[in-house]
Amino acid sequence: MKYDENSIQEFSQGDIMLHPDRVHGVRAVDSEKDLAEILANHKWPLCMGFEFDDFLYLNDGDREDTPEYASLKIDDVDGLMVTAREVGRIKPLGMEVSKVSGFVQDMRAGRWSTSGPLRLKAEPDWHHSCELCEFRED
Ligand SMILES: [Zn+2]
Repeated sequence: MKYDENSIQEFSQGDIMLHPDRVHGVRAVDSEKDLAEILANHKWPLCMGFEFDDFLYLNDGDREDTPEYASLKIDDVDGLMVTAREVGRIKPLGMEVSKVSGFVQDMRAGRWSTSGPLRLKAEPDWHHSCELCEFRED
């Protein structure tokens, strides 16, 4: 995949993750329906992410009460380092599952504009812990 000057410009304009340094614990999801339900009906730690069909959906919000997910198309995976481009954002909590499904479909169909490539660190969720999800007493 080649990047044209426009996508580099978008990258410099800041159309990128709010928390690119966050290390996410990522869980693979088997179906679009499961993913939509997971995002619409549950709160997750701020470092939680989901992978479905070569896309990452990473919690990029500031509070667990108001999750905001960045959708990223995966270009390359090298160990725990992922190269990906942000393609959309969604605040799914409380949305109808069908609407979240529609968002996921739009991502998969390529109905998005892309940012420049980002390098992110992601781990399997069962292998992950950090200060955002450890020792929580709520
Ligand atoms: Zn964590």
